[in-house]
Amino acid sequence: MPAEDERADDHVKVAVRVRPMIPKEKLEQQSLCLKVHPAERQLVVGKDRAFTFDFVFGEDASQQSVYDEACAPLVEACMQGYNATVFAYGQTGSGKTYTMGSGSLSCVAPEMRGVVPRVVDGLFEALRARADEAEFLVRATYLEIYNEEVKDLLNPRTPAKSISIREDASGGIFLTGVHERAVGAKEELFECLEAGSAWRATGSTLMNAVSSRSHSLFSVIVEQRPKGAGAERIVSKLHLVDLAGSERAKKTGAVGQRFKESVSINQGLMALGNVIAALCDQQGRHKSSLAQHVPYRESKLTRLLQDSLGGNTRTLMVACVSPADGNLDESLNTLRRASGLS
Ligand code: ADP
Ligand code: MG
Repeated sequence: MPAEDERADDHVKVAVRVRPMIPKEKLEQQSLCLKVHPAERQLVVGKDRAFTFDFVFGEDASQQSVYDEACAPLVEACMQGYNATVFAYGQTGSGKTYTMGSGSLSCVAPEMRGVVPRVVDGLFEALRARADEAEFLVRATYLEIYNEEVKDLLNPRTPAKSISIREDASGGIFLTGVHERAVGAKEELFECLEAGSAWRATGSTLMNAVSSRSHSLFSVIVEQRPKGAGAERIVSKLHLVDLAGSERAKKTGAVGQRFKESVSINQGLMALGNVIAALCDQQGRHKSSLAQHVPYRESKLTRLLQDSLGGNTRTLMVACVSPADGNLDESLNTLRRASGLS
């Protein structure tokens, strides 16, 4: 990894994306409850509740602009040897999968492609531009975390029990029992994405429940071997994460004898919030104060991302919201959480 740079506050960036109304919201004649002011990087809820972010994308923002403005810098950072993570956060239906482009690619028009395929394009373009200077090895994994179990979407028959998350002597995180697919061309990465997404969509009869309560992580590992004598090998990872829906999931099963409906929050999301809060707290303090404990071990998600979140890494959170007043409460929750981070 490169030496620690000076501006720690550059490490975590937060974008908000407001999607257009979907047909259901239009049919129900819901009204718009959010206004975006991209130039001021502001989003205003109702009359005067303003939130400011690093990036604000309104309903007209193209997939390309989201990639170019917010994501391309992380691809460049990855080429320079930094680990990086992009998350899509928000309630179910807010546009996370659309934004990440982590669904099937086969019926998607080029301009509608989301972050993942654009990152793949960007990486391979950067690799080609540097082909004279270094040799490259690119590997990919595609995982799903559901109920604190890790599933290998590129090898779906692997039992969750045989997958474990380990830490090496220098703090690097690696997985055992997961297939890292070596890819020579970007088309092979697209194949990984397609195969994993297809499995994700058909793998369960509880499809909707599972996909809204699970996290998917498409990760690209780039190894650069400079051709000059004595130059060191650089390995970096870029994680692209479509998070579970941030709404509280209602547990409809009877609990004990009281048949009380209880409410649970996804453990990974809760842990992620705690980790990012601890990191922001750390960023806000002076270096002389004691390093604060960052609770990476509270979930599989944060454990997996331990070496790619905080420290000398780059993080982008894209908070996705619906513009319709029927979703106001959830949108406010998302905006409050996201604005606490930037
Ligand atoms: P999530 O993954 O958060 O549950 P989706 O990405 O599936 O939400 O989006 C819900 C619906 O809204 C989908 O039909 C999707 O195509 C549409 N949608 C989301 N974001 C946009 C956008 N920026 N522009 C156009 N349609 C969008
Ligand atoms: Mg989704």
